[in-house]
Amino acid sequence: MIEAGKTVRGIGVGSGGVAGRLRFFRRRAASDVRAASRGCEAELQRLRHALTSVGERIEAIARRAAREIGADEAEIFEIHAMLISDEDFIEDAENEIASGKCAEDAVECAAKKYAAALEALSDPYLRARAADLRDVAGQIVDALSGEDAQSEGADEPHILVADDLLPSETVTLDKRLILGFVTFTGTPNSHTSILARAMGIPALVGTGEIDTRADGQYALLDADAGVLTIDPSADQRAAFERRTGRANELAAEHERYLRSLINKPAFTRGGHRMLIYANVGDGDEAASARLNGADGIGLLRSEFLYLSREQYPTEDELYKSYCAVVDAMQGKRIVIRTLDVGADKQISYFDLPHEENPALGLRGVRLCLSREEVFKTQLRAILRASAHGTISLMVPMIVSSEEIRECRRLLEECKEELMRAGRRFDANVEFGIMIETPAAAIMCDRLAEEVDFFSVGTNDLLQYTLAADRQNPRVSQICDANIEPVMRLIDGASRAIHATGGWIGICGELAADLRLTQRFADMEIDELSVSVPYLLGVREKVIECK
Ligand code: PEP
Ligand code: MG
Repeated sequence: MIEAGKTVRGIGVGSGGVAGRLRFFRRRAASDVRAASRGCEAELQRLRHALTSVGERIEAIARRAAREIGADEAEIFEIHAMLISDEDFIEDAENEIASGKCAEDAVECAAKKYAAALEALSDPYLRARAADLRDVAGQIVDALSGEDAQSEGADEPHILVADDLLPSETVTLDKRLILGFVTFTGTPNSHTSILARAMGIPALVGTGEIDTRADGQYALLDADAGVLTIDPSADQRAAFERRTGRANELAAEHERYLRSLINKPAFTRGGHRMLIYANVGDGDEAASARLNGADGIGLLRSEFLYLSREQYPTEDELYKSYCAVVDAMQGKRIVIRTLDVGADKQISYFDLPHEENPALGLRGVRLCLSREEVFKTQLRAILRASAHGTISLMVPMIVSSEEIRECRRLLEECKEELMRAGRRFDANVEFGIMIETPAAAIMCDRLAEEVDFFSVGTNDLLQYTLAADRQNPRVSQICDANIEPVMRLIDGASRAIHATGGWIGICGELAADLRLTQRFADMEIDELSVSVPYLLGVREKVIECK
């Protein structure tokens, strides 16, 4: 703790003020004691592997930055992508390995030389790239030693304090948790300031070093006045509130409360635990789901990868995309829904025959069972990814036990093929189905003998129960106004499944409807899977349930 009421001055960036605990950013130092080289070939391979994984990560960050912050700021990461594939830099690192260094030392040596050369140039723009090079080299070393920079106590809302933040560190932080930035160095035009402004977060830069004893202390950051007040007195708080406005505080308070729930298990007051999972389409979305407290992924819409392409993805491409989700979720469970195309999700290269009623036609599991090789390619990719994380597989549009048995037969074939090829996978990967048809809802006591879990797809269950095409605006009102029959189906399914000791979640849009949360809690639904923006609101609601 440092003295109460201490003020620190700096250059305010952005406007407004925030109040919260200070958290000092911990950049894990790479181990001082490095392993000796495991031999030139092994170290070169490690280097190549790290370059690929960091390269992919930088591209993902660039995409996320472009989406969340803006194309201009994403340029920083394009520069990083260029640096990581710079032939001179890579060749230098390879030479260091050839001279007997381990990959980590080789990268650091090569980066040091390269950065010194950049710093010696007269062009200020090129000189500034030295910092980017150090950033990239740090990421490669982290990847080699399996470590990532992290901020301690970063799971609750806080004001982040750091010497300075590297662009890659700034953009990967969950901005929902960061109330503001304080950096010892940096200027209003440094990367951190530019990004802080783009994110709409107040910051104070160039404060000079702050005593680490302030870590965890409550503070007021006033960007307009350029002041940070640590452990403020009542008078200081009152003055701050007058300046920044009470209304702001109240709105932020609810936001802060929501954020404080991020790692709180969602138990109803009656003691029923509901898992709050996320519906996502790829690894980037999964990363933001985890940062918003998702207990797992309840629906990975795996068809997105197929939809965004001109031709069938290969097994390796699918495997890599699932591994990205596994990496993002850090051990939490991921339910991969197998390919669900047809009906509203048409893909030209599938060359699907014209159907009068595609929603009642060859879609979901029906299509997969009619294209065994396409389906098996996906199943093998899912199985391979299961070697790295907690993966469950879930099949859409099931109406009968026969379909389940056919899927399981193909799954067993895939396991044998992978075994013969010497590939690793989780032999006990869980097998679940979606309840999207009244048939599945009615028959789930029987189907429960064949599967490990169920998840209700309310979007389709509504359209099939009410005979109202979910794509047709002229009948959409029927779905909005008549959820009761579907609620009864879910209630019946839940009773039947629980009677067999089974597990049931909900992953359609109704899962996020807060007017229904109490009823789902009464039905003892095991999991609600919702889009990322709804995660915290649903968690709050479950905790309030009886
Ligand atoms: C559903 O039908 O509720 C569901 C989650 O699947 P999709 O919306 O992808 O058809
Ligand atoms: Mg569906």
